[in-house]
Amino acid sequence: MRIAMIGTGYVGLVSGVCFSDFGHEVVCVDKMAAKVDTLRAGGVPIYEPGLEELLTRNTAAGRLSFTTDLAEAVKGARAVFIGVGTPTRRGDGHADLTYVYAAAKELADVIDDGAVVVTKSTVPVGTNREVGRVIAERLKETGREISFEIASNPEFLREGAAIEDFMRPDRVVVGVESEAAETVMREIYRPLSLREAPVMFTSLESAEIIKYAANAFLATKITFINEIADLCEKVGGDVKAVAKGIGMDGRIGSKFLHAGPGYGGSCFPKDTSALARIGQDHASPVRIVETVMSVNDARKRRMVDKVMDLCGGSVNGKKIAVLGVTFKPETDDMRDSPSLVIVPGLVGAGAQVSVCDPQGRKEGEALLPGVTWAEDAYEAAAGADAVVLLTEWNEFRALDIKRLRQVMSGNGFADLRNVYAPEDAAAAGFRYVSIGRPDVTPAD
Ligand code: NAD
Repeated sequence: MRIAMIGTGYVGLVSGVCFSDFGHEVVCVDKMAAKVDTLRAGGVPIYEPGLEELLTRNTAAGRLSFTTDLAEAVKGARAVFIGVGTPTRRGDGHADLTYVYAAAKELADVIDDGAVVVTKSTVPVGTNREVGRVIAERLKETGREISFEIASNPEFLREGAAIEDFMRPDRVVVGVESEAAETVMREIYRPLSLREAPVMFTSLESAEIIKYAANAFLATKITFINEIADLCEKVGGDVKAVAKGIGMDGRIGSKFLHAGPGYGGSCFPKDTSALARIGQDHASPVRIVETVMSVNDARKRRMVDKVMDLCGGSVNGKKIAVLGVTFKPETDDMRDSPSLVIVPGLVGAGAQVSVCDPQGRKEGEALLPGVTWAEDAYEAAAGADAVVLLTEWNEFRALDIKRLRQVMSGNGFADLRNVYAPEDAAAAGFRYVSIGRPDVTPAD
């Protein structure tokens, strides 16, 4: 089937590439000419493991191409996916739907008769119907006489594991209101049903809510274990043991129970915010989610205090090495990363901050003024009073911590991802603090 994908960001590009790998003929379109040029030359504008290989294979097979021309992209397409950004709108916390509606309006001039317009972007309840209304209104304006269908197909992939998630999803959710749209969507995802991934059909509204509810639930789970970690610190428990103990309960599950510096990223902060606003607008407040948001915001700021306490109450004039600035490992995405609160907090408190990140520098340089960039953890830590492990990239999980301690001038280690065993850190000569576990001082 011929498919068009509007937007070649983290979701649009991965979805487009994976659909082409299913055997569909996919044309991806983006307004950013530089991105399209890179893609046409076989490059990948984002860091996502496995993506380049899949892109090269499917481009070579003639199933995948890129353009800036919407009309060219949608010509002959039975399904047109909207995968543009829906960031938080400035000032009020709502999702900004400008890009979605702009794409819908443009589509009305160029889609083929009978095409299904599928919204893959994360959008509030009612948006898919509004997309249909925008297209219908524009058709009326221009006098074009074609029919079209709409469908909602929220995406659940995780950056860093996006290909695997797309190819082997726990489920695919599709909101439709016509048999014609359902038939097209079934055909698109048929290769997944052969792999026994459930494809669930529901209403447009339910599909929209499922996406927000899923992200809000996961953000809640993380925030819950973070607060339990705080309690552990006060009363002398170990949050890793607690998480293991509750996670073995099948009703709870072990995932998303890793205590840390607070969630960030391109989805959880904006989607919790949008869900809270949707609830308020419909006089059905989602108070748990509202609380999760404020607990998480406060937590990121408190991480700065944690580092200051480690450094004897102040970081003024101290050298601090920060390992990892992306919001999680295996991505170059810096959107709403905890580092964007914690690093400026340290710089603002007078610290000289040296950072390193395997993929974050390109985005991070502009976002984190006043820091120096190092090539690796040992270079960052050279002469430092304290090290802060902020993002658990593999290369920071297997550090030679004795060597790390030796290159430093101080001995502070704030492990905000609980990567190391406190006794190992003590044995290496560190004063070590982590999340929800006992602090330790250097072993003699
Ligand atoms: P992104 O900002 O990385 O990419 C959006 C792309 O759309 C950009 O390249 C932009 O140039 C392009 N674009 C915007 N308007 C356009 C138009 N009219 N025509 C052509 N191109 C246009 O965004 P993203 O992270 O891929 O997210 C896209 C959507 O998917 C969002 O709604 C997000 O919430 C959702 N989502 C994201 C993730 C994730 O992990 N990033 C996961 C699930 C769902």
